[in-house]
Amino acid sequence: MAVQGNGRVAVITGASAGIGAAAAKALAGAGFRLALGARRVERLAGLAEEIATTTGERPLTAALDVTDVQSCERFVQRVRETFGSVHVLVNNAGLARGTTYIEDAKDDSEWQVMIDTNVSGLLRMTRLLIPDIIASGNGHVVNLGSIAGREAYAGGSVYCATKFAVRAITDALRQELLGKPVRVTTIDPGMVETEFSVVRYHGDQAKADQVYAGMTPLTAEDIADCILFAVTRPVHVNIDAIIVKPRDQAGAGKVARHD
Ligand code: NAP
Repeated sequence: MAVQGNGRVAVITGASAGIGAAAAKALAGAGFRLALGARRVERLAGLAEEIATTTGERPLTAALDVTDVQSCERFVQRVRETFGSVHVLVNNAGLARGTTYIEDAKDDSEWQVMIDTNVSGLLRMTRLLIPDIIASGNGHVVNLGSIAGREAYAGGSVYCATKFAVRAITDALRQELLGKPVRVTTIDPGMVETEFSVVRYHGDQAKADQVYAGMTPLTAEDIADCILFAVTRPVHVNIDAIIVKPRDQAGAGKVARHD
């Protein structure tokens, strides 16, 4: 039986596009009150307007760069001032940069962005919000992992390492919070067509399109469904992990392409 949001407050990082934006719509529709963060605030404002039109309640939107401690602290302060409590944190902000093999990398810069965003950013937002989430009495941390956190592939060493790290953090956090009123979930998707590949290939849309050529990828809404499922279970039910792939994908690099 699904348990609706009932005014629970959910923070979604990286809500300006893709999975984060779809999750915002799904959770708003289920009665959650939302705080949405990302660097592109104008996109957040547009999304908030759309949500306000359909639900009558405008989410809080605020600038958030998860790689910047002060930005995270300012964001959390705004959330506390606005709502006074936080029940759910969806750690969605994340990215891949390039598919360069280690032997061909010229410097560490792309690796550092992935580690700072996907690992340090996720840890930082969890650290800052976990007291509020525990105090809510009905908390939930949902991390966006990936099948890249379950199997590595050539050209993905660092992206995969960050997502293996997300899985380790998720599992450790669940153990650390045992006995406290907080659930901890990882959602691990395969190929989802969002801006993810455009970002990975530095804005090269044609190269991004090739990733999904001849196959049917998941949509951001498919993943939002998984997030919604996890956060609307009865309070005693902890969904540890959801691994979800397109029917056309059997693993990283194992893709059926139809002409
Ligand atoms: P997307 O369309 O590129 O969206 C990524 C979101 O993350 C954007 O809203 C972006 O917002 C935000 N973001 C990036 N860096 C940020 C930062 N430093 N601070 C705050 N927000 C930041 O990609 P997506 O597919 O929805 O990805 C969402 C999550 O799903 C990621 O963690 C990704 O690793 C994971 N995932 C994706 C796939 C896939 O195939 N698409 C598969 C498995 C897992 P701004 O640029 O406005 O800050």
